[in-house]
Amino acid sequence: MLLLTATYLLPVNQPAIRDGALLIDGTCIQAVGPRVVLTQRHAGVECRDLGEAILLPGLVNVHTHLELSALGGQVPPGRSFVDWVIRLLERKSSLSLETFTGAVEEGIAELIRSGTTCVGEVTSTGVSFAALRKSGLRGVVYREVIGLNDSRAEGIAEMPFAHLGAMREEIQGSPLEVGISPHAVYSVSPRLFHLCRHLQQRLGLKATIHAAESCAELEYLQSGAGEIRTRLLPATGWGDVPPPVLGATPVEYLHSLEWLDPKCLLVHAVHLMEADLDIVAQSGAAVAHCPRSNAYLSVGRAPLKAFRDRQVPVGLGTDSLASNQSLSLWDEIRFAHQTHSGLLSPAEWVGMATAGGAQALGLGDDIGTLEPGKQADVTAVALDDPEADPYEYLLHEAGPEKVLLTVVGGQTLYERQGL
Ligand SMILES: [Zn+2]
Repeated sequence: MLLLTATYLLPVNQPAIRDGALLIDGTCIQAVGPRVVLTQRHAGVECRDLGEAILLPGLVNVHTHLELSALGGQVPPGRSFVDWVIRLLERKSSLSLETFTGAVEEGIAELIRSGTTCVGEVTSTGVSFAALRKSGLRGVVYREVIGLNDSRAEGIAEMPFAHLGAMREEIQGSPLEVGISPHAVYSVSPRLFHLCRHLQQRLGLKATIHAAESCAELEYLQSGAGEIRTRLLPATGWGDVPPPVLGATPVEYLHSLEWLDPKCLLVHAVHLMEADLDIVAQSGAAVAHCPRSNAYLSVGRAPLKAFRDRQVPVGLGTDSLASNQSLSLWDEIRFAHQTHSGLLSPAEWVGMATAGGAQALGLGDDIGTLEPGKQADVTAVALDDPEADPYEYLLHEAGPEKVLLTVVGGQTLYERQGL
């Protein structure tokens, strides 16, 4: 057993505790409370005082593509979303496996150094899955599936499905879980969506889908026209594929395919009509909010207030380094706070980066708050100003350079030297 103590402990599900303590027993949290109470009650237990610091649940980054980490700073936004996707595909195909793998590992190190303990990662090659397994991070790793040739859907599904099965066998004993990610409504054929859904239900998998990210995506489903039709599909060899549906929004289309349910995490969800918002809320699906990526690609601002009003679970995601400058969720919180000015309090932003993310990934019973029985996923941030409000301080000051400790399931993945 180990007792961690610090100036503040933020359980997130209850008010901050000044001079707080956290008792870890193996992989789980055993007790949370004032330092004076816990140190007396557990007098013989090894105690680690973190000093002037804030202890809080580890951050949950609900949307990453670690396999694009090597493209950091190399894919300028371009004139449009489709422009960026085409450049991204070109750049990605030119990467060597070594560059690719090294960057994935650096990305994971960046996550851990910034106090992240859990990720929602989309993998298209399995490289990030292997690296995550080595790292000890918790997460849901979604195997990506892409393909528009409906008559060949079974053949297209074969490799990712086999890979997904192998991943499931390899995760035994690790804090990882495997899910499925049909990429988006404009890159997965109806038949392939159907096959993915069948597999998802048979294996009880979680799912994540990019949805309603850009105006181009809406236009494509509404009228079959626009840049996806004229530029993206020809560039990917699917120029002769007709749109899957006409006159529907991405949310309506996914709803008609019966994808929207509590196991589904919609990524971006920027362009939603009122009816879409109601469909998402009633379905129990969650949203990955990626404000910096949305700004980088100039696709618009997600209707966060409408999600909150309808109690849609929302987590924060950095997306990949191909559309963002860092994988630090602290940067994401700060940007979100500026973008949605006045919408949420500092405590609510910290809540979204922890408990909100856990709920969005369907892990709310296991992580996201510091309470007895949950997994000991914890981070600690050095507090330079002990008189500051801890939430205000985290919102404005926290970053990788101030993170002291990252613990997943009781296992220390990172601690600052000299601590
Ligand atoms: Zn993405």
